[in-house]
Amino acid sequence: MKEYDIIIIGSGIGGLTAATLLSRKGYKTLVVESRTRIGGRFSTFEHEGFHLPTGAILIPDGWVIKLLEEMGIDTNILRPITRVFYRINGERYEIPAEMGVPKALDIIDQLEKEDAEKGRPTKPVQLRKIMRGYYKKMRGIKQEGIITVRDWLLQYTENENIHDAFDTLCAGLMMAHSWELPVSKFFQFQEMSKFFIVPNGNLSIAKELANIVEKNGAVWTNCPARKIVIKNGEVTGVIVEKAGEQTEINCKAVISNTGVKRTLILAGRENFNDDYLTEMRLKLRPSPCVLALVASDKPLCLEGINDGLEIIMGSQRMNTIIPISNICPELVPPGQHLFYTSAKHDSSLHPMDVKYEIQQLKRDIEEFYPDFEKYGRILKFRACGIINEWPEGRTWLGYGMPLETPIPNLFNVGDSCVAPGLIGTPGSVESGYRVADIVEKIL
Ligand SMILES: Cc1cc2nc3c(=O)[nH]c(=O)nc-3n(C[C@H](O)[C@H](O)[C@H](O)COP(=O)(O)OP(=O)(O)OC[C@H]3O[C@@H](n4cnc5c(N)ncnc54)[C@H](O)[C@@H]3O)c2cc1C
Repeated sequence: MKEYDIIIIGSGIGGLTAATLLSRKGYKTLVVESRTRIGGRFSTFEHEGFHLPTGAILIPDGWVIKLLEEMGIDTNILRPITRVFYRINGERYEIPAEMGVPKALDIIDQLEKEDAEKGRPTKPVQLRKIMRGYYKKMRGIKQEGIITVRDWLLQYTENENIHDAFDTLCAGLMMAHSWELPVSKFFQFQEMSKFFIVPNGNLSIAKELANIVEKNGAVWTNCPARKIVIKNGEVTGVIVEKAGEQTEINCKAVISNTGVKRTLILAGRENFNDDYLTEMRLKLRPSPCVLALVASDKPLCLEGINDGLEIIMGSQRMNTIIPISNICPELVPPGQHLFYTSAKHDSSLHPMDVKYEIQQLKRDIEEFYPDFEKYGRILKFRACGIINEWPEGRTWLGYGMPLETPIPNLFNVGDSCVAPGLIGTPGSVESGYRVADIVEKIL
């Protein structure tokens, strides 16, 4: 085929969302993927018999589930995570997910009071004032002159544990630290209270979505797009490399899932006006990621809990622990155990010292899990700085670029274009729904 209605460059979850929606509506759709495997940061690879995620591990309830249900993909197989444990001052507390922040602050308040009674130096928590401010903001009341989450919180308290709790939330879920993220963006966040893991890996879902596209189109792997062809201000096609040969494929519209910056390179910077380039500079704030996948011969964490995760407060780096093999034993070889830990990175603004960050995370693992040395091993470390092409998010919460570009039939999709309040896979899928709507209208 040399002609399609739509070409989608990249088979990440955002690209596949747009592709399935448009293909099901009858548009001839081609997805080209440069890698040998589909799914991008929503995929699975094999390593020493373990099935490991390329990126996303937790699927929040909401947009992704909606997509799967609409596409007739069985969501009953997904394993829910409904229990959330917080490790505060070395003790584990179970907190219902929907009560996360207020309840965690309440526990910190109690612990500080106990410390004060024992005559230890503490800083006032001011829980009531924080909560009043928190709910006021949640209801959308503006507070002028306050910039970052940390600045907002400093109105009420200097207590380090409270600041650490907010920072853990920001760095863990919103792609930036509390001293980097504006409080207005923080309060747009659409809270997530239930998560799922795919028992046979995200790649299995990506493949099901690709099968749907293939009913009215094609998905080509190992086929990088080399150039988006623009004539008289409009896209006319894409030059794709297939089996070492470059071919021009014509189309009526292109949706790029490669990230806004790469779209610019593929289409030629000269085709984008100054306003768009300025918006890119102001908005695009990639978020680094540091994580470890830890294998062991015996369970090292959350033993016996097969529907929960743990959030760590007060560590150097470690902030979320997911006991993958407790939840989905089919992802690991028999007799083996696996947990995933993500880390709070040093900064979402300046480049990362990868070696140092990995050292810090390793120190935390050794400290929190004394049995690690005897029974465990690091299967994979992943550390991607903000200049890497595989960030945790292509931009922070609330910093999504528009889907439209100055070229009328060229669009972006994926997590550089997240809607306010969304992030990660739900953000990418939602952008896929929006772009499919727009493209349908212009076609
Ligand atoms: C370590 C890590 C952990 C994460 N954890 C979570 C989590 O637990 N929950 C959650 O919801 N989100 C998580 N995320 C974020 C989530 O994975 C991403 O937001 C989401 O998967 C991004 O999807 P996307 O649509 O932007 O496409 P991407 O995944 O960025 O895919 C883009 C695709 O385009 C392809 N491509 C690029 N250039 C070309 C070209 N020239 N030609 C053809 N193809 C091209 C790439 O190979 C890639 O496959 C995590 C991310 C990382 C990295």
